[in-house]
Amino acid sequence: MKLPDFEYRAPDTLAEAVVLLASSEGARPLAGGQSFLPIMAFRLAEPTMLVDLKKIQELRGIQVSEQGVRIGAMTRWREILDDPRLKAAIPLLPEAIEHVAHYQVRNRGTIGGSLAHADPAAEMPAVALALDAQIEAMGPKGRRMIAAQDLFVGPLMTSLETDEIIVAVHIPAGPSNRRYGFQEFSRRRGDFALAGIALSYDQDAQGRAANIRIAAFSIADTPVRLKAAEAILNGKIVDASTIAAAAAAASGEVDPAGDIHASARYRKALVGTMLTRALERAAADAR
Ligand SMILES: Cc1cc2nc3c(=O)[nH]c(=O)nc-3n(C[C@H](O)[C@H](O)[C@H](O)COP(=O)(O)OP(=O)(O)OC[C@H]3O[C@@H](n4cnc5c(N)ncnc54)[C@H](O)[C@@H]3O)c2cc1C
Repeated sequence: MKLPDFEYRAPDTLAEAVVLLASSEGARPLAGGQSFLPIMAFRLAEPTMLVDLKKIQELRGIQVSEQGVRIGAMTRWREILDDPRLKAAIPLLPEAIEHVAHYQVRNRGTIGGSLAHADPAAEMPAVALALDAQIEAMGPKGRRMIAAQDLFVGPLMTSLETDEIIVAVHIPAGPSNRRYGFQEFSRRRGDFALAGIALSYDQDAQGRAANIRIAAFSIADTPVRLKAAEAILNGKIVDASTIAAAAAAASGEVDPAGDIHASARYRKALVGTMLTRALERAAADAR
């Protein structure tokens, strides 16, 4: 189907973009168009104005410092994958993004667009939870930081105001003994996952896990922390017995819906299996 009619604006600055978004109730930001244009074609959204963010320099670029990483909202998946500094600083990011869609989509889709789109089956929202990311947003009332866990409020719904723009994602630096794990299961490479896990934890001198954050995706309306599994692992050595206990707890604490792709029971089992594999990988990296 052809797109509905809309006014198209491409401001040069963030301040102009905010003014445009606040000027009309039907105005919406446009990033790479990878999710929004198909939605418009299906008439699931009919914005009267698209505010294209592509010329705004402040929304671009990756900065890596001792404090952590800042990734501009308009940074594309491909740019993240191609940055060797990110691979070294936060290997979870490229590992997860390799699973996002296909080559063509990764060339245009952006990290900010993915977070704003808030697809519960998407990788990045769960990765943001696992990394304790902060989302920098700007609107007519100024800038604010939103913790990733407060951003996602429902399927394709965030706590952003309609006239707020995601400016950047901030990921705090972890200690050198931080471990990461990522696993997802999809029918074909590049498809949205039937279930997936992103996690991070710190390993102390005795080999025990601390500050563990486990996020599951594609199993609820938003990405979710698996608190029961985390409680089992915190303060313990990640080995076969604690992994088995955590996996059982993870399967037990999720309540996914069944659909044409997978039954609820299958998804519950997948959560345990994905967590087992992600923890095994993380623990193996630690040795
Ligand atoms: C065939 C196909 C397969 C895909 N598979 C996957 C997959 O496996 N995993 C996955 O995670 N994704 C997948 N995607 C989606 C893809 O990752 C997109 O990159 C992502 O959804 C964001 O798209 P975008 O950056 O082009 O944003 P757009 O489509 O331009 O925008 C998406 C939404 O975010 C809003 N928005 C965009 N930028 C901002 C901003 N800075 N501030 C506030 N609001 C903003 C827009 O108004 C819109 O509502 C797939 C897409 C396609 C077409």
